[in-house]
Amino acid sequence: MKAVDVIIKKRDGHALSRQEIDFFIQGYTRGNIPDYQAAAWAMAVLWRGMTRQETVDLTLSMAQSGATMDLHDVAAVVVDKHSTGGVGDKTTIVVAPLVAACGLPVGKMSGRGLGFSGGTLDKLEAIPGYDTALSVERFKAQLRQIGVVVSGQTCELAPADGKLYALRDVTGTVPSLPLIASSIMSKKIAAGADAIVLDVKVGRGAFMTTLDDATSLAQTMVDIGKGVGRRVSAVLSDMDQPLGRAVGNALEVVEALDTLRGRGPADLVEHCLVTGAEMLVLGGVAEDPASARRLLVDALQSGRALSKFNDWVVAQGGSLSALGDPPTMQAAPIIRTVGAPRSGFVASIDAMAVGLAAVELGAGRSQKGDKIDHAVGVVLEAKVGNEMRVGDALFSVHANGEAAFERARARLSAAYGWSDRRGPERTLVYGVLR
Ligand code: URA
Repeated sequence: MKAVDVIIKKRDGHALSRQEIDFFIQGYTRGNIPDYQAAAWAMAVLWRGMTRQETVDLTLSMAQSGATMDLHDVAAVVVDKHSTGGVGDKTTIVVAPLVAACGLPVGKMSGRGLGFSGGTLDKLEAIPGYDTALSVERFKAQLRQIGVVVSGQTCELAPADGKLYALRDVTGTVPSLPLIASSIMSKKIAAGADAIVLDVKVGRGAFMTTLDDATSLAQTMVDIGKGVGRRVSAVLSDMDQPLGRAVGNALEVVEALDTLRGRGPADLVEHCLVTGAEMLVLGGVAEDPASARRLLVDALQSGRALSKFNDWVVAQGGSLSALGDPPTMQAAPIIRTVGAPRSGFVASIDAMAVGLAAVELGAGRSQKGDKIDHAVGVVLEAKVGNEMRVGDALFSVHANGEAAFERARARLSAAYGWSDRRGPERTLVYGVLR
């Protein structure tokens, strides 16, 4: 078999067999197939799509590209969550310790930023000393001792996704249903959790921009997970405007901490409660979302979730000294607030434009292996529905230079839409697929 023949077959719109998919994925993982052929193949998949069977075969091949974990010697039930990617989505940093504080172990393998969308690993690495490359042994030991662990892909678990993910990020091949479904589910299957809650984003700042496409992605992933004996559900949530106010790595860690301290922005708090409740129900700790929500609110208000966050960060080598109240995370040299250009209501904030502004500031990557700047980013001082007078604080830019600040200011000013009238309440959660 030759890699070029597999690429041509997909380019011409034919379904690949399980053997062809396996040949390509295992060959790429071992370095026998180079990046340029994998990039061409990913682009062919993006344009031509895959059948459900191909998507399942791709997921299993990626999951089996390395070791797989069995966590049953650690706990009877371990829960995991994964977002399909969005802007300002720091949910994991809040819900992982929150759910663990309710007695359900959370073991999660996260990813880095993809295109305009941020990544939990990049955010966590803004915490000095935080180690995202845990071995299987350390992953399990921490899960046993602390009840929460969030690590990146080591070469041991789903290495095929580790390589493809970084390649897709810089080759315009992220927004493909089969590539997203297989990327997420291969990691989840390899990481061994029994219960998996998927946070499927829909809107301008998501890879699926319509509810139909997001539902189809959610259903595909739920089916794949159930097919391998996992409990899976998917929350369909809004990503038309960024989640919360902060976009950028250190800024998002600070906002997640604020949320654990009971001062989070309303949309982020609500989203964390919905996602966390789903995790507790799926993990068998609560009977229904309402009782799960009561447990979560109690863990937040009592400070147990915050103390679980501290234990987790310390266990992964992170320094708590920068995470005080107020936190003293690394700061950008330029922090400037821009005022509203007019009076009226904020009608929309283009989440993708905000994500791209953050990437251009240095919070994300343009090329594989680019170093990111953890300090830079954006804080949205006003969100959709806010009534503003001309000059009121609209957004703040944290930049590492004047030119970068000016570019971000222009992009962000254009990202805001205005109206003279108050619009309807925005929907945060469109539904849950179980
Ligand atoms: N998250 C992932 O892990 N993979 C994707 O492809 C998109 C979001």
